[in-house]
Amino acid sequence: MSAAVASPLASNAALDVARVRADFPILTREVYNKPLVYLDSAASAQKPRVVIDAESRVYEEEYANVHRGVHYLSQVATDKFEATRKRIQTFLNAGDENEIVFVRGGTEGINLVAQSWGRANLKEGDEILISELEHHANIVPWHLLAAERGLVVKGIPIHDDGQIDMEAYKGLLNERTKMVALTQMSNALGIITPAAEMIALAHDAGARVMLDGCQAVSHSTVDVQALDCDFYVFSGHKIYGPTGIGALYGKAELLEAMPPWQGGGEMIARVSLEKSTYKGVPHRFEAGTPAIAQTIALKSALDYVTDLGLDRIAEHEAMLLNYATERLNAMGGITIYGTNSAKASIVSFTMDGVHPHDIGTIVDRDGVAVRVGHHCAQPVMQRYDIAATVRASFAVYNTLEEVDALVASLQGVKEMFA
Ligand code: PMP
Repeated sequence: MSAAVASPLASNAALDVARVRADFPILTREVYNKPLVYLDSAASAQKPRVVIDAESRVYEEEYANVHRGVHYLSQVATDKFEATRKRIQTFLNAGDENEIVFVRGGTEGINLVAQSWGRANLKEGDEILISELEHHANIVPWHLLAAERGLVVKGIPIHDDGQIDMEAYKGLLNERTKMVALTQMSNALGIITPAAEMIALAHDAGARVMLDGCQAVSHSTVDVQALDCDFYVFSGHKIYGPTGIGALYGKAELLEAMPPWQGGGEMIARVSLEKSTYKGVPHRFEAGTPAIAQTIALKSALDYVTDLGLDRIAEHEAMLLNYATERLNAMGGITIYGTNSAKASIVSFTMDGVHPHDIGTIVDRDGVAVRVGHHCAQPVMQRYDIAATVRASFAVYNTLEEVDALVASLQGVKEMFA
């Protein structure tokens, strides 16, 4: 849906979930002869018809390689590809479209920052702060850099309710702190961190901040200028878009001072056998043929959520989260991790006496798709001294009846192990 065409859904009315569900073809399918109850959108969201159609349309009508061609199709593909960059700029409220770098996803964006910005700006003894809530994608790239450069990676602790311990954070910031790499929303617990306040404190200490928006981006409006983060990353597939495409936002003055991190076609100004010179930003960071169709289709995903209204999506998901939390607490024998009220769309829990993997396998036979494990966030599991949780995550297309289906299935598990 283009922003120019008024969506029938674009009103102040509450979200019409039946209409939304009709946009997602996969939701009509069954698994094991049961209706699919998809509660794993935090791992990857399903795709609406507009995104699926946009991607196939590229291959059917608009496909050619981008940037290099003078021929008609190459120009069409390039214009559409670059239109997504512009769309991400407005979606994140970045000041300039050249502050948007296309990457394969959040993981690649963080690695780009660590390797390009990190190598150019960090020296032995410098400190990087990461929180106990981080996904491995926002831990391991810093460990790799630390090992190479003699840096010190320190953890910002969380309280028992899953929220950042702000006093401890303030105590960790010092003149050696050069980077705070922080999630805006925890994928393991759903906790939303006080990012704006933490960014201001980091800046007062002279540190830069990289916000991992992979989870947050589909649940709330993001304004990188208001947040004043130095870098921001997200993955397209978690916001109803294709896999293989994501974005890195970086403040222009930082990106401009950063060296390339991968070499190849597309990113050069001139190459001889002896020497290469490079393009300006953002193309300097985009070596090789990109995910063309996926990038073009990502624009449709961003238009889709914008048309629905991120505020309405958040309201709908909050209703599901509150209902699920109440019902799980009422069941007994369930421990929910991440109980702070600053939270969205994820409920992470264990059941007394039953391994999360058993729970995941049993509820799956009822058609209920949840994620079990450490959610690529082992430090937060270590914080609670557990190996794994069951994670149900809610998206725009989930319903109260699906929460009931989860609870009914869990009730069955409980009885089985009683
Ligand atoms: N950060 C967070 C908070 C995530 O939830 C994820 C995906 N689970 C990532 C980073 C990595 O994203 P991707 O796998 O799409 O690169």
